[in-house]
This record gives sequence, structure tokens and C-alpha cells, in this order.
Amino acid sequence: MDCEQLAPLYEEYALGVLEAEERAEVEAHLARHCAQCTPGIEKARWVVAQLAHVSPEAQPPESLKGKILDAAISRAKPA
Ligand SMILES: [Zn+2]
Repeated sequence: MDCEQLAPLYEEYALGVLEAEERAEVEAHLARHCAQCTPGIEKARWVVAQLAHVSPEAQPPESLKGKILDAAISRAKPA
């Protein structure tokens, strides 16, 4: 996988909903300290952390929340 293929997986990786094979690809890529994907994953982790601690005063944009939840739900379903 290259950076372009990994970019859509950042949030799912951060959520821990990637399939083992994809997760291994992401981890192998991050092990090379990719200058593009490392900050991308960090940002995704931050977003996921915000969702985990969501409060009425600090709502993430609905579009972003919906995108992440959709990803989590679609991944959770058996193929
Ligand atoms: Zn990369």
C-alpha cells in the first residue's frame, strides 16, 4: 500500500476497526516513519479521542462524526 491507499484508513485504524491484514499494512507503513501518514494517523487518533470524550460544549462537526461512525459500522458488519 502507498500513502494514497492508506489515507482513507487512518480513522478506521485509529478506531481499531481495521481488519488484521489492513492493520498490518498500516503498521508496516508507519514503521518506516512516513512523513505523510504518521501525522495523518496522529490526527485521526486525536479525532477519535475527541469523539470518545464528546461533551455538549465540544461537539465535533456532525459530518465528521457521521463519517467516522459510518466507517466503524460498515467495518463491523461481516462482509
Ligand atoms: Zn505514507
